[in-house]
Amino acid sequence: MAKRDYYEVLGCERGSDETVLKASFRKLAMKWHPDKNPGDPEAEVRFKEISEAYEVLKDPQKRGAYDRFGHAAFENGGGGGGGAGFNADFASTFADIFDDLFGGSMGRGGGQQRGGGGGRARGADLRYNMDITLEEAFSGKTAQINIPTSISCEVCSGTGAKAGTQPKTCRTCGGAGKIRHAQGFFTLERTCPSCQGRGSVIEDPCPNCGGAGRVTRERNLQVQIPAGVEDGTRIRLAGEGEAGVRGGPAGDLYIFLSIEPHTFFQREGADLYCRAPISMVTAALGGTVEVPTIGGEKTNVKIPEGTQSGKRLRMAGSGMPVLRSRSFGDMYVQVVVETPQNLTKRQKELLAEFEGLSSSETHPESNGFFAKMKDFFQGAGSDNE
Ligand SMILES: [Zn+2]
Ligand SMILES: [Zn+2]
Repeated sequence: MAKRDYYEVLGCERGSDETVLKASFRKLAMKWHPDKNPGDPEAEVRFKEISEAYEVLKDPQKRGAYDRFGHAAFENGGGGGGGAGFNADFASTFADIFDDLFGGSMGRGGGQQRGGGGGRARGADLRYNMDITLEEAFSGKTAQINIPTSISCEVCSGTGAKAGTQPKTCRTCGGAGKIRHAQGFFTLERTCPSCQGRGSVIEDPCPNCGGAGRVTRERNLQVQIPAGVEDGTRIRLAGEGEAGVRGGPAGDLYIFLSIEPHTFFQREGADLYCRAPISMVTAALGGTVEVPTIGGEKTNVKIPEGTQSGKRLRMAGSGMPVLRSRSFGDMYVQVVVETPQNLTKRQKELLAEFEGLSSSETHPESNGFFAKMKDFFQGAGSDNE
């Protein structure tokens, strides 16, 4: 697999300083962030590629190694971190970016241990997509989810060796997991091809897991969805991802939340917007209109006398909760004055009579409009002369 040059990935010159690298990383990370490109596999690949490039170039030591040896500097085991390689590095970058973009609201738990030596690789991160309603986002909920995931084999405790046997030290590398070979002036270390860096080989595999050290199980997890989550909010459950390889640390589980569209409310941050029709008479004389709240109650909104169609009335504190705080957004009710239809003869007479009594006092906007129109035509006429 031909890997792209890290500088090329970030769109920077080789000699670029840290600020330039960081700025261009941030720009690209915002552009390709999986939350901004839901369901786009290309974005996920690009995002991972950008993260990996930055992870190396931001570290002066790693960058020096990369400048000298290129990608070969980080092939399995060469980076000095053991078998975990970029999986773990990627996860930490991922969490950093997440904190940057979302204000750190999700926090970072434990579970970031790098894989030790001896092929104990960190398990993969898992993604779980969950749809919730706006009401559930309002009140928060405890969700039960079943995830098929590979867990450490109970029979061999993750070693992969049959009960009563032990993995044998690899003869190719003598247990080091790496082999050295000279290339020009340099001696490069490569992952041992016989044991894939584990340093040991299994002669009698465990019958329960076939030597993999992991088995697939469906796990039931309880997930707390806090009140105030938004569409695209991600919840990280440290250590709930796939089991590590041969006793390595488990990956993390990310719950990606999507909030279903609501029939009545539109949401903008913590504020909710809805529309309510009112009659022409209520608009003119004032009154109340009943609207539902997201909390499942009904509330009366006071309509002031002389309310115009399109007017937004604010109900302070009736919006969504703000994540991890005690405050709430507002609810805005936009009133729409409904023009009456299918009038009877009598109704028409009354309206015509009403119209006859109207004046510049009752219809200031119409009056202003006609005055402006008159000015407009007079102005246009004088320009032409
Ligand atoms: Zn086993
Ligand atoms: Zn070996």
